[in-house]
Parts: sequence; structure tokens; C-alpha cells
Amino acid sequence: MPPDWSNVRADFPILHQNVGRHPLVYLDNGATSQKPRQVIQSLVNYYERDNSNVHRGLHALSMRATDAYEGARGRLAKFINAADPAEIIFTRGTTESINVIARSWAHAHLKPGDVVLTTEIEHHSNLVPWQQAAQASGATLKYVPLLGADGEGGLDLAALDTLLTPQVKLFAFTHMSNTLGTINPVAEFCRRAKAVGAVTVIDAAQSIGHVPLDVRAIDCDFLAFSGHKMCGPTGIGVLYGRRALLEKLAPDETGGGMVVSVTYEGATWKPAPERFEAGTPNVADAIALGVACDYLDSLGREKIAAHDTQLVNLAMEKLSALPGIRIIGPRVGQPRSGLVSFAFEGVHAHDVVTFADQDGVALRGGHHCNQPLMRKLGLTSTTRASFYLYNTPEEIDRLVASLQKIQKFFAG
Ligand code: PMP
Repeated sequence: MPPDWSNVRADFPILHQNVGRHPLVYLDNGATSQKPRQVIQSLVNYYERDNSNVHRGLHALSMRATDAYEGARGRLAKFINAADPAEIIFTRGTTESINVIARSWAHAHLKPGDVVLTTEIEHHSNLVPWQQAAQASGATLKYVPLLGADGEGGLDLAALDTLLTPQVKLFAFTHMSNTLGTINPVAEFCRRAKAVGAVTVIDAAQSIGHVPLDVRAIDCDFLAFSGHKMCGPTGIGVLYGRRALLEKLAPDETGGGMVVSVTYEGATWKPAPERFEAGTPNVADAIALGVACDYLDSLGREKIAAHDTQLVNLAMEKLSALPGIRIIGPRVGQPRSGLVSFAFEGVHAHDVVTFADQDGVALRGGHHCNQPLMRKLGLTSTTRASFYLYNTPEEIDRLVASLQKIQKFFAG
């Protein structure tokens, strides 16, 4: 039985408001998701009852906070089927998670002549850190090309045969593109990278909370995601790392909480995950992220994925019937994640977003932190509608009606 999606909407207080004279239609989930009252309540409960610093305290509140924080770590491990909670490092989000690997792993392993492989469709957060790591180490950065004038062909899997050489030490790629909606075959990428001895890093910012995700089935080495895109709070995210790799890794940040012993001469590190969590961690948000996992699993991630697919297919069908709209990414009928980006002939994406906002429809317009991809497609920006579990077919009608109004305005 699919969940009753109208009940789901009732869990999200923010959705029940007007923007101007219109009920809000929130279609900017690719940027951040809204939060159910269960997650909001968890933050209130923590600050009203348990707030205390973790790990170092022996009083009741500190022990409660520590138990809840470590409980959240276990919950996150279960959410992605990690073998061990010690493989979950809490970070600020995807960007910080990727930077941790780019600084610590890359610093220790990359040398001149090595290759870091990534793809032409990466978010800046999974691109700039590798540029920096390559520059610092003398390694070369290479890209798996995107196929099709509108990026409709996905990544060139045949090119992987020539690109994945034994010189490749690390292969970093996104699970789902935040601009194209492309879904990458991540398990296949990991298998092929492993065959040449390359370490794999998956940017799961757009997939976490939308599809079931199993790090052991995918067999990746590292995986990064943000809590705020999966009904959790901002400021919290996860770096998953295979335990054997984390154990050999030096920390990229040092300070309190991550040391065993400190003398005036030096210090020794705790094992993972504490070694990578210097300073007071983001306790409240980590706990609330655990609650977000419970929330999503109570609905079922397969069902959320099916709901996303139903909405995005409907949107694709309706948007492709509108004149002057160039949809990028997979074509109608091809698999795509729950978002659609398009260029509007003769109208800048910022104007589309501003006009849609007057109808209460929240969209995103710009380069979506994908500047090189935009250049490759010959665009400066697109408008993006991104769906999640609380969106409805009626909201897609509101989107289409607003776009038709915009078209009329600019035509006339
Ligand atoms: N990668 C992808 C694919 C994203 O969509 C985003 C967020 N837009 C990020 C990385 C960065 O996430 P955050 O800003 O939460 O660190």
C-alpha cells in the first residue's frame, strides 16, 4: 500500500502558508527539503531536556546527550546499511564530507603522475576540492564526458574503458545530477574503479532520502551526503568511509575530542569516527537527522522513489508540450531523478523564478553550482523544478499554469 500522501503533507507545517495571495507550491527540494514536525520536535526536545556536551561529561544530561548522539550514528549506519557505526562521521554536509577526503586521503596518497577521475556533471562541491587536491599533489584531473547536446545521453560509459587506467587513484562521481536529473550506475562505477585499484567517492547529496541506498551493495569506499536534503536539519551531514580506509587515514582537523593523549611535544589520535570529529559536534542536529531517517523509513524509500518518479514523469510530459522550453537531461520516458531543468526561450531563469514566485511557486534558477556543465550545454542558467514526498500532481498543474502565464507575458 502506498502511504497516504495527503497525510504526509500534514506533517510539514511550513507547507500550509500562502505566498502573496497563493498557497505555497514548494518545488525547490533539490536545494533543500522541508522538515516534518517530528524532526522539528526532536530539536525542541533536545534543547528543552537533554542539551549538554557529549563524550566528556559524567552527569545525567551529558550521558543522555551522548547516548542520543551515538544512537543517531547507529541509526545513520543502518540507513545506508554500513557495516559499523564507526564508519559514520558527522560533518556539516556533503561539501565538508568531500573536503575531508580531498584533504586527508588525497594529501596522503596522491603524487605527480597519478590521476583523479571525476565527471563533467559534478556539482562544484565534488569538483573544486579535486581541482585543489590535484594542484597540491601534482596529480592530473580527468573527466568522464557527458553525451548529447542536451546531456540526454548520460555519461559516456564506453569512455570509462580508456579513462579508468591503473594511474587513476580516486574516482569521484555523483549518484544523481542536481541539474540534469541523470542517475548514474554507481555500483557499476565502483566495480570498474575497483578493478584498477581506484578508491571511489560518491556524492549522494541528491539521492539520499529519495531512493534506498546500500553502501555495501554499491561497494563504495566513501559516500557523502547532507541532512537538509532528506528532511533533516541544515548544518549536519555524513561522510561514510570504509572502516579499513578510515583506520589508516590521518585527521584533516585537530583539537579537542579527537585525541587520546597530548603532551607539549605532540598528540595521538583516537580511532574513527572520533578522530575526524574535532571539537564539540553538532549534537542536536545529528539526533534530529536520526529522526529524519525514522520518518523516511516509516514511509518507505521505495515508495518515495515511486512518488518522485510519478511526479517527474507527469512534469516531463506537461513541460515538453509547452512551446519554447528546452528540457535538459534524460528524455521523456528515460529514467531520471525527481527533478527537471529547462531553458525558457527568450526568458532568463531568474525572471522565470521571480514571476513564478508571484504565483506562489518556489523554483530555482541559475547555474546550480554546475558552471562547467552549463558552459558545455551552451547555457548560462536553467530553471529547475524538484519534487519530493509532499508534492502533488495539482502542484504540477500550478507550475504549468504559471509557466504559461510567463510565456504569454514575454511573448506579448
Ligand atoms: N552535490 C550535489 C549533487 C548537490 O546537489 C549539493 C547541494 N546542492 C551538494 C553537493 C552540496 O551540498 P551541501 O551544500 O549541503 O554541502
